[in-house]
Amino acid sequence: MSKLVKAHLDHRRAWMAFDFAYPVISRRSRGVSLGVNLNPDKLCNFNCVYCEVDRATPPRRRDVDPDQLEREIASLLDLTTSGELFQVPPFDSARPEHRRLNDIAFSGDGEPTTARCFPQVIARLAALKAARGLEAVKLVLITDATRLQAPEVVEGLECLMANQGEIWAKLDAGTEAYYRTINRTQVPFSRILDNLRATALRWPLTIQTLFLEWQGQGPTAGEVDAYIACVQALLEAGGKLEGIQLYTVARPTPEPEARPLPAAEMDRLAGRLKDGLPGLPIEVFYGPEPTAAE
Ligand code: SF4
Repeated sequence: MSKLVKAHLDHRRAWMAFDFAYPVISRRSRGVSLGVNLNPDKLCNFNCVYCEVDRATPPRRRDVDPDQLEREIASLLDLTTSGELFQVPPFDSARPEHRRLNDIAFSGDGEPTTARCFPQVIARLAALKAARGLEAVKLVLITDATRLQAPEVVEGLECLMANQGEIWAKLDAGTEAYYRTINRTQVPFSRILDNLRATALRWPLTIQTLFLEWQGQGPTAGEVDAYIACVQALLEAGGKLEGIQLYTVARPTPEPEARPLPAAEMDRLAGRLKDGLPGLPIEVFYGPEPTAAE
């Protein structure tokens, strides 16, 4: 292989050495999603039983460098919009309809809103996509909802929502006890519900819910009823909900007792949610996930 061709390949694969940004073809996005990891230290204020983050391996770095992060996203924007990304495995086998840039998603090895630079990075990436004429590309925040009312987070959300933003907020339980069992956090469940309500009163929210088999059991009927009551309360308070994304475990997790629910059980739960929350769109994502290129 000539030096020139090698250099070209290295350029296309440069993202594999990035610290903060990564491309994926996502089922949710039905296209390319550029992930932003604001938690390279792998710290999170939740410790979900189904978390896929490998915290046994020490992080490569702990700090966030906003300049480097912006350069990495700029490079990925160029690779995706030029089509070069789709010459590199596994993206070279992506379906034609998935060869489009859908969003930049704040998601990673921890809770993005705990990063001090959160509002700064949102402002930078909003300006970056505008400068490239990519206003239609969404900015998606995937959050555990613990810090949605913190002033610096609200500042970031204001910029996010002014720039094709979407907020996807986690709600995995209907009771404090099950929330503590699954999300294993010290943050009170009441704060999550209060944050969801306050945010949904201002902006449309998508609720992300992961139901699973934990220690041999899925969520009980009573837990699902309590969950439905929580979502109903958000709607009755005037909250704007886009819908629910209902997940189960899709990939292996460090906790062997966190297992996916079978597709039939996911369908049954989705039916229960549809009955209890009439009119609210429920999108179901079964596990395990197909390969990145599918
Ligand atoms: S909120 Fe996300 S990153 Fe944090 S423990 Fe749960 S799944 Fe892992």
